[in-house]
Amino acid sequence: MTAELSPLPAALEGKLVVPGDRRYPLLRSTYTTVANPAGVLLPENTSEVVAALAFAREQGLPLSVRSGGHGLSGRSSNDGGVVVDLSALNRVEVLDRAARLVRVQAGARWAQVAEELAPYGLAISSGDYGNVGVGGLTTGGGIGWLVRQYGLTIDHLRAAEVVLADGTVVRADAEHDPDLLWAVRGAGAGVGIVTAFEIEATELRDVGYAQITVRLDRDGRVLRHWADYLAEAPRELSTLVNLLPDDRSLVASITAVVADGSERRLRRAVEPLLRIGATLDQHAQIVPYSALVPTAHLHANVGQQPTTTTNGLLTAMTDQDAATIAAVMRGPHRPMIQMRSVGGAVNDVPPDATAYAHRRHGTLVVATVFPPGRGAALDAAWQPLAERVDGTYVNFEGRPDKSAFERIYPGATGDRVRRLWHRYDPDGIFRTPWQL
Ligand SMILES: Cc1cc2nc3c(=O)[nH]c(=O)nc-3n(C[C@H](O)[C@H](O)[C@H](O)COP(=O)(O)OP(=O)(O)OC[C@H]3O[C@@H](n4cnc5c(N)ncnc54)[C@H](O)[C@@H]3O)c2cc1C
Repeated sequence: MTAELSPLPAALEGKLVVPGDRRYPLLRSTYTTVANPAGVLLPENTSEVVAALAFAREQGLPLSVRSGGHGLSGRSSNDGGVVVDLSALNRVEVLDRAARLVRVQAGARWAQVAEELAPYGLAISSGDYGNVGVGGLTTGGGIGWLVRQYGLTIDHLRAAEVVLADGTVVRADAEHDPDLLWAVRGAGAGVGIVTAFEIEATELRDVGYAQITVRLDRDGRVLRHWADYLAEAPRELSTLVNLLPDDRSLVASITAVVADGSERRLRRAVEPLLRIGATLDQHAQIVPYSALVPTAHLHANVGQQPTTTTNGLLTAMTDQDAATIAAVMRGPHRPMIQMRSVGGAVNDVPPDATAYAHRRHGTLVVATVFPPGRGAALDAAWQPLAERVDGTYVNFEGRPDKSAFERIYPGATGDRVRRLWHRYDPDGIFRTPWQL
């Protein structure tokens, strides 16, 4: 396979990993997909990213951009092509403590970001898993543990450094190339390689954390009660619900995070959740924010989770929505279903302010199937829900293709995303999976 690649330029000497290299087994794949690229490039700074991109383009082979390798589509690697892996660009720097402005390179993992910011008493709401990369999450949205209080990660993105398809390096902010910044905030995968983000963090040291297990009734009423409460709960509360089998029945395992270190506020925010149904188990504690995305999460990605995932958003959960979710869980395809509260600060942002347009929803429903079930099994499992949801979050879509585009980028947002992708990447090297 190596023979297919032309000689490396001096700038990239020692930074190409090919089959046979002892590092290759830990670099070839992503979290969901085992892959066989012809080479993985490991640039260490922006000018090396420019050189890596030029080299990759010269080969005329499939191109993948990878930050943390957690993308659910597995497209941050490929078979027979070139991967530009940004893991060596992983610096986290507080630029201005008073303004809470932080510069994070794309290859950093969220565990690292939380750990580096903790001594400053700062946090960035990112996601629920420390090994997820900054680049993929921040070019798509970022629904984290503080989402109802803080909004999406992109809602606090102030500037981005982007290597465009032609190798130009651009700093995009509110004054310089605001179109590019708009696109990076939700549709960044199609405009170039983002090497660094400037993000406004929030003041936060400790959070309230609770784990509550509730029996899931047959008609899913517990889920409607959960969503009803979240629609009016204090914004400092964000929750994630996993629906899980428990003997012959189902339970809702709720993780609640309160963006405040006081026990009183934790109790106040979480107590109503103990009344949404039959509580089987509960515990609560105050923990540092960094404990939610710990460095213990860090690991190499070797295709260990071969899943297929999709998702959809609900504005408000009706009885029928809740019953449908419960029925899907009991159906023959047995997907894993996870729900996240959105709303709150997410919906303060106008739908046209960023490329993430879903600004009136309260719940994100994510469904995953595991092998041997793949696309067809997921479609069959999801079909009853497909009619009920409105919009899709790009970062939990395992098949971001042409048919998913309209759900992810609806209406005028989609028109603008398409226009900007074509403007910044006329040859379509970054948007090949979308076939647009
Ligand atoms: C276990 C797990 C937990 C998750 N939890 C959350 C969560 O709590 N909240 C949430 O919002 N999401 C979550 N996600 C989804 C996550 O946001 C996406 O999978 C995201 O794409 C992962 O980022 P990455 O850098 O690790 O991905 P990668 O696989 O490296 O990249 C995915 C894609 O993003 C694009 N991309 C990556 N880096 C760049 C860059 N620097 N410039 C331009 N484009 C780039 C590329 O198209 C690439 O194919 C989770 C995913 C997993 C697997």
